[in-house]
Amino acid sequence: MPTGGGKSICYQIPALAREGTGVVLSPLVALMHDQVAALRLAGVRAAALNSAMPREDRLEVERAYRAGELELLYLAPERLSAPGTVELLSQGRIALFAIDEAHCVSQWGHDFRPDYLRLGALAERWPEVPRIALTATATPETHREITERLHLEGARHFVSSFDRPNIRYRIVSKQNVRAQLVSFIRGEHAGEAGIVYALSRKRVEQTAAALREAGIDAVAYHAGLPAHERLEAQTRFLREDGVVVVATIAFGMGIDKPDVRFVAHIDLPKSIEGYYQETGRAGRDGLPSEAWLAYGLQDVVQQRQMIESGDGDAATRANQTRHLNQMLALCEGVECRRRFLIRYFGQDAPERCGNCDVCLDPPKLWDATIPAQMLLSTIIRTQRERGRSYAAGQHIDVLRGVGSERVTQMRLDELSTWGIGKEWSVAQWRGLVRHLLAVGLVEARGEWGVLAPTEAAKPVLRGEETVHMREELVSRAAGRGSGTRGGPGSGAKRSAAAAELTAEQAEVFERLREWRAGEARTQGVPGYVVFGDATLAALAVHRPATDEELLAISGIGQVKLERYGAAVLEVLARS
Ligand code: ZN
Repeated sequence: MPTGGGKSICYQIPALAREGTGVVLSPLVALMHDQVAALRLAGVRAAALNSAMPREDRLEVERAYRAGELELLYLAPERLSAPGTVELLSQGRIALFAIDEAHCVSQWGHDFRPDYLRLGALAERWPEVPRIALTATATPETHREITERLHLEGARHFVSSFDRPNIRYRIVSKQNVRAQLVSFIRGEHAGEAGIVYALSRKRVEQTAAALREAGIDAVAYHAGLPAHERLEAQTRFLREDGVVVVATIAFGMGIDKPDVRFVAHIDLPKSIEGYYQETGRAGRDGLPSEAWLAYGLQDVVQQRQMIESGDGDAATRANQTRHLNQMLALCEGVECRRRFLIRYFGQDAPERCGNCDVCLDPPKLWDATIPAQMLLSTIIRTQRERGRSYAAGQHIDVLRGVGSERVTQMRLDELSTWGIGKEWSVAQWRGLVRHLLAVGLVEARGEWGVLAPTEAAKPVLRGEETVHMREELVSRAAGRGSGTRGGPGSGAKRSAAAAELTAEQAEVFERLREWRAGEARTQGVPGYVVFGDATLAALAVHRPATDEELLAISGIGQVKLERYGAAVLEVLARS
């Protein structure tokens, strides 16, 4: 089931209905506090046990568990190997085990955690306790591996649609990525919450600084920051409106913020599973959201090198290459993005979704056979006639006939392919190199990423096979959206939930949001734990005046009615 599809409810309700405590194994220690807080607000007796807790709090949770006072208990998988945990669990009554993020047990998946391998033992220790495993990212192979390692062969399997129709997928060609990102956020998501993923800590910090300079409220998050800074960044992102977090993939697993309006990747993700999970953090409230990815030649070269020079064994490298190639196939392809993604997870999808860049703005195909032959022969000639290999930049200079000191030094301007590709821009040539790397006609080798043709390039050189690629939309990619300026809080753009409201309703919505912000601050919880944007929008539209009418609004149950009903009616009466 995709992120935001309602996985938790699949074990929370059975845990409430059954006698005993539902034990939830989840790797998301940092988020347990918010998960538990949200459950308590909904009237559920929930608690978490983790090593970060003060001793007396831990003892109190243990006591409550033994006394049968808890409906749900959250545990990190590594707790199971801590002394006394199995003994503690044996002293209470267990309603069920829920294994969240179950793909972490898959060694060939993208997110393996050794602690998960121990969870197979639950079946032997508590054969009578029902177990449920849940994940948002399982290809058919990962699904099989989860089944096997967690001993769930006899289990029923439920696979819901992986589609997240409210997320618009967009993949752009990387030119000046920071300017592209600023233009994307300011032009289309001003004042909205979003996540920007980058591959390295350094890039995270630089990008966050660049966004702040452009007037965007951005914070940095990566594992190398001191714990208090990380916590502060996460807390601001969760509890305030319109904060953009720039992060490594260390951020976000299980982030339960429903109103993330965009997820942007400024570096190529390492696998489709990772990409889909990360983009799935957008729009969990079902409102229109966007997944934006910029990728370029450097991404392909860099990632191939990282795999080559990594310390994994041959099987690990082959697995990483497989993941990378699938990611490249998504980026370079001309198929509907959603269809590609959904089919990747083993499900069927219509030809066109109507809500991705390919469907909305179909790419033109460029017959790149001749330029590909020019590039391939340049690579072969420099190697043969100059006895050296070069990276993409030098080959492009040769093709475009651009002289540099380096070029003349090596007498590259005497090559027969000198200047034969003048009519194409650098961006087009880089796009072509990227495409040839992506489809495996060329390899980038060694520290400098020197290019070499592969076996597969031969038929292209002989003219037996053609090369078709997306036409580069350079000018459009860079200029898009720059016409609609609006800094954070400029009010130029309302949040997605408010987008459909009349001016009057929007005003009520804003009042409710203000009230919610105050309430969230007092309680020290994120705003959506009080009420989601969709609930506030429904309140603004229907303007309930009685408790009964309040209960008719989605997101308001008995507990929330008792807690907030009077205050909400008062805000509505005043507006
Ligand atoms: Zn589509």
